[in-house]
Amino acid sequence: MMSTTGPVCRLCRREGQKLFLKGTRCETVKCSVDKRGGTPPGMHPWKRGKFSEFGVQLREKQKVKRFYGLRETPFRRAFAQADKKRGPTGENLMQGLELRLDNVVHRLGYALSRGHARQLIVHGHVLMNGRRTTAPSARLKEGSQVTFTKKKKIREGILALHEEGRDRPVPSWLARDVSALQGEVVRIPPREEYSLQAEIELIVEYCSK
Ligand code: SF4
Repeated sequence: MMSTTGPVCRLCRREGQKLFLKGTRCETVKCSVDKRGGTPPGMHPWKRGKFSEFGVQLREKQKVKRFYGLRETPFRRAFAQADKKRGPTGENLMQGLELRLDNVVHRLGYALSRGHARQLIVHGHVLMNGRRTTAPSARLKEGSQVTFTKKKKIREGILALHEEGRDRPVPSWLARDVSALQGEVVRIPPREEYSLQAEIELIVEYCSK
């Protein structure tokens, strides 16, 4: 279930930006990226030279992969699916990642991080179009709906967590009804509303080699 184990803040420091892997902590002064001024992890980070062209592409791919919480194989699978689809591969890839069930649950504000959303899903608390699904990678479409189990304790917990992160705006491609603990994909996410603004072309170049 969990795609990344170990000290995840190191991943943000490696990519030189916040990847929001720890929920509310990421918004506080405890965030390692803020505390350490963006220094990469390791003993002598300043001794490392500049990245080669390949290195820049690799870092961009790693950043997106880590942001969405994927391991290498699922990421490659997502890329292969995007490549098969009609239209620009990079856009297809990012749309596919945005429409993953774990990302949608998080962006609806029902989970504090993508990791937390994955946990809710694999424990069977999330329903996609009225059916329980335990696959965080399940892909939603336009019109797909997300709801939660009827268990009172779980619903209360999700509502309480939603209150914690209620300031987080919901993107325009999603609609949310908090009183019913429900959400819907109203349209395909446009590029300007992806959770992460990445240099998609670099990723396509890297993965196409
Ligand atoms: Fe990344 Fe969050 Fe850790 Fe900050 S607190 S370094 S954003 S995981």
